[in-house]
Amino acid sequence: MIAVAANAFVRIFLAPSCAACDAVLDAPLASPVCAACWRAIPALSPPCCVRCGDALPSRQLPGPLCARCRRHAPVFTLARSAGVYDGSLRKIIHAFKYEGRRVLAEPLARLMKDAGAPVLAGADAVVPVPLHPWRAMQRGFNQADDLARGLGLPVWRVLARTRHGPPQAELPAARRHANVRAAYGVRTTLLGLGAPMLRNRVVVLVDDVMTTGATLEACGRVLVNAGVRSVRALTIARAVAPRSGQPRPRRRPDAARR
Ligand SMILES: [Zn+2]
Ligand SMILES: [Zn+2]
Repeated sequence: MIAVAANAFVRIFLAPSCAACDAVLDAPLASPVCAACWRAIPALSPPCCVRCGDALPSRQLPGPLCARCRRHAPVFTLARSAGVYDGSLRKIIHAFKYEGRRVLAEPLARLMKDAGAPVLAGADAVVPVPLHPWRAMQRGFNQADDLARGLGLPVWRVLARTRHGPPQAELPAARRHANVRAAYGVRTTLLGLGAPMLRNRVVVLVDDVMTTGATLEACGRVLVNAGVRSVRALTIARAVAPRSGQPRPRRRPDAARR
């Protein structure tokens, strides 16, 4: 009752609008995003690749793997996302990441937990994809870290972004993977933690959006080289190509605007 009255008070006197669609919020104290926007999150519709979770073309290829995984298997053994990086989900992520609506991390992590149940099952820990310290300072938080804390597993901050590097978008395609590959390493601490605790473990890399997969691939390689038995990946959203059989669109690569 008190909550209803408090929401009505805020709605009438402050009239805050939805962070994604600008409609006036019915229950502004419950969430900065309206119920319609949460309901409108574009789902990843099956069939999906059993390994990387990408949507398969409607003309089904022989077997459960996408063309990319068959050509060159990614370092992660299993990857899933809660929805498509489009529509209301794109706007919600934008509000979370660039407008500092950190309160959105909790409901977004809940979506990830539901969609990523097979990824999280039996894993030892979640590992957030790190930001370069300079970027973390500018933003004031690391979105992947906020999400990782809502997933119900220990959070291991064992990776470091060691190189700021030129923006991915400014590089020719052939150099993008090399650029991002050289950008991550295992963090060394005074206690010498990091590499030893990773040996033989199953870990889940966590990030907000999977675009080309280059960032997750680069971080996954670092973890495997440090002795991890299996790397999985979980993101809120992923860029998806229209379902017609051709590869995903050439969007801005993951590391372009972290
Ligand atoms: Zn809305
Ligand atoms: Zn695949």
